[in-house]
Amino acid sequence: MNPTPRPQAASSGESRPPVRSTVHGYPRIGPRRELKRASESYWRGDTSARELDEVAADLRLGVYAQLREAGVDDIPSNTFSHYDHVLDTAVMFDLVPSRFAPPAAARDRDEELRRYFALARGERGAPPLEMTKWFDTNYHYLVPELSPSTRPRLVGDKPVAEFREAARAGFHTRPVLVGPLTFLLLAKAADDAPEGWEPIELLDQLLDAYAQLLSRLREAGATEVQLDEPVLATDEGRAAPDHLERVCQRLGSLTDRPALLLCTYFGSVGADALRVLKESPVEAVGLDLVTDGEGVDDLVRVCGLGATRLVAGVVDGRNVWRTDVPAAVATLGTLLALADELTVSTSCPLLHVPLDLAAETSLEPRLREALAFARQKAEEVALLGRVLSEGAGGEYAGKGVPAPSFTDARVRARLDALGPRAYERPRDRPAPADKPLTTTTIGSFPQTAELRRARAAHRRGELDGEAYERLLREEIDRVIALQEDVGLDVLVHGEPERNDMVQYFAEQLEGYATTEHGWVQSYGSRCVRPPILFGDVSRPGPMTVGWTAYAQSRTGKPVKGMLTGPVTMLAWSFVRTDQPLAETARQVGLALRDEAADLERAGIRHIQVDEAALRELLPLRRERHPEYLEWAVSSFRLATSGVSPSTTIHTHMCYSEFGTIVDGIEALDADVTSVEAARSRMELVRDLGDRGYRRGIGPGVYDIHSPRVPSVAEIEAALRLAAAHVDPAHLWVNPDCGLKTRGYAEVGQALRNMVEAARRVRADLTG
Ligand code: GLN
Ligand code: ZN
Repeated sequence: MNPTPRPQAASSGESRPPVRSTVHGYPRIGPRRELKRASESYWRGDTSARELDEVAADLRLGVYAQLREAGVDDIPSNTFSHYDHVLDTAVMFDLVPSRFAPPAAARDRDEELRRYFALARGERGAPPLEMTKWFDTNYHYLVPELSPSTRPRLVGDKPVAEFREAARAGFHTRPVLVGPLTFLLLAKAADDAPEGWEPIELLDQLLDAYAQLLSRLREAGATEVQLDEPVLATDEGRAAPDHLERVCQRLGSLTDRPALLLCTYFGSVGADALRVLKESPVEAVGLDLVTDGEGVDDLVRVCGLGATRLVAGVVDGRNVWRTDVPAAVATLGTLLALADELTVSTSCPLLHVPLDLAAETSLEPRLREALAFARQKAEEVALLGRVLSEGAGGEYAGKGVPAPSFTDARVRARLDALGPRAYERPRDRPAPADKPLTTTTIGSFPQTAELRRARAAHRRGELDGEAYERLLREEIDRVIALQEDVGLDVLVHGEPERNDMVQYFAEQLEGYATTEHGWVQSYGSRCVRPPILFGDVSRPGPMTVGWTAYAQSRTGKPVKGMLTGPVTMLAWSFVRTDQPLAETARQVGLALRDEAADLERAGIRHIQVDEAALRELLPLRRERHPEYLEWAVSSFRLATSGVSPSTTIHTHMCYSEFGTIVDGIEALDADVTSVEAARSRMELVRDLGDRGYRRGIGPGVYDIHSPRVPSVAEIEAALRLAAAHVDPAHLWVNPDCGLKTRGYAEVGQALRNMVEAARRVRADLTG
């Protein structure tokens, strides 16, 4: 049944080098999150630098062994990091702000590590580097701060040391480096840099330092080095073929160097970049042939790569589905005509998928069959390499059946039956607030150690459902009492029952599965376990109504219900690929619409639908924004348009750089939008004011990321600033985000100060 192409026969018939296999990168946290435990224990001072280094070395060697066992031909190194690979690069090239003292000349390892972690996490007085999301993933990198006086120079040897360490253990590896373009285009100008100066101006100097590193690697015996340039998949990177050419020429012209693999991922890079690469001295080019389906077309457009080796990313490195092997074999057959030499790889490093499906024992078998985590993906590239080299057939029969689809006719029929009215609320709705500067919070209250312990005990079956629920009700009682005491206007129940804003809903929705060990690094030692959205989504029953209604029964003030919006439900999950995201989002929207209706029926007059990830999921390329915003907005509106016009719909976003999506935010048509604003000094409010924004806006008046209690005066100043730009009747008063990571010690006082500041400003405004 399976097509068994014999690519060799299809090609020129001359002998061609065998097709090899590799992966761009691999999870680094370990099968049991060993890196997390080891780092946190080191931070607490419980273990030494040496102990931490030993754990790290074991993890690295474990990865090489696992890749070899999977049958992968070419194994990468330097994919490990103690915190983040962009930070590693900055430290290695001495691109560190001066507020972090350099390690003593003696090169004390402990001191070196402490400084490294201080850059990531901050330390007495010195704020850490800013952290932000790595392209459109949920991984965070540390943003290098550069200025014209910065002098890149090679001061570290991490890639060399890890190459040697692997070699001693019998693995000849390919060191992986963050490419110079990606590094500079992701860096930001330090505060003291002159207006208009950009880090890319350091390119030539940085290339000198890379040249030095390459020659060190060559000396150590490296025969090939991988330079990661994912930035080439973005508009910014695509617009810089001249910079790319400089990189390739400068590094390519070195006389004694390892072969260069220039790797791109997270999307196609366009024909311009391919032309530059094809003409350059770079020996190999890695392309993502999965993400947007344009990679192969680009290759055809430039008539292939000729003698430049193609590292073909045909196995999806970011999602958890098994590869359709026959389809991949067919694609690779086509590619053999477009490059003389071919290596099979993943579309991107496997950093963003969990390590090993073997650890999951309780997934439904039919679903489990359809999945592949990092280890299984490594096996897939190896299999593909073998099939292509040996023309082996049959071997993969049965492995290539496309994933089963899990459809639900009822869901589809309901969605089909919806008319355009289902996505619209009446334009004229009653004003959501009865006074200016209404006070509220974003949803969660502190997740105390007691709560976490109880949840864990409940999960393990050591605490029965009744006892657990009693505990949650008591917690809600406390949260309600605190808010009444503080004098807030619109209350929340505090979300004590939620482990995570996505997982909580995923566990209750049909079409979603959760894993036991499917951890993925989010930043540093922080890992998340994204649920898997595998089939048509529906809601078997109410998900939040019990807790919210209980909270409402304890107070005469309105309690705001809390839901996680469709885009965020998709962004922080692994999502099915057998239908467009738009369709999947609509299904989630429909389930939330039912929940909103039930909340309303239970007497809830305010409903907040969080879209924390609205911007994160924005496509890397501008030309794709309109299509994305179209479905993002309509799924939100589907979720929120079923309630009566007098019910107030809130939404919340965790950032304030709205430039690119401000139209989208307006189109959500929420009555009140709360956003982070404290750190950017209400910039957003100014922008919205200038646009004549007419719905409610709740700019965060204090930063919840630190335990510091803001004073009445500073909140008051923020509010006066905001009130100067938007009509105070539309102004809401709230913190930047949820309070779950804070402690009760500071939360009570901070909220009291917030309420008092609002009272003062309101009093002035109303005379
Ligand atoms: N309602 C959520 C909370 O307060 C929102 C979290 C978020 O925006 N990330 O925790
Ligand atoms: Zn937030």
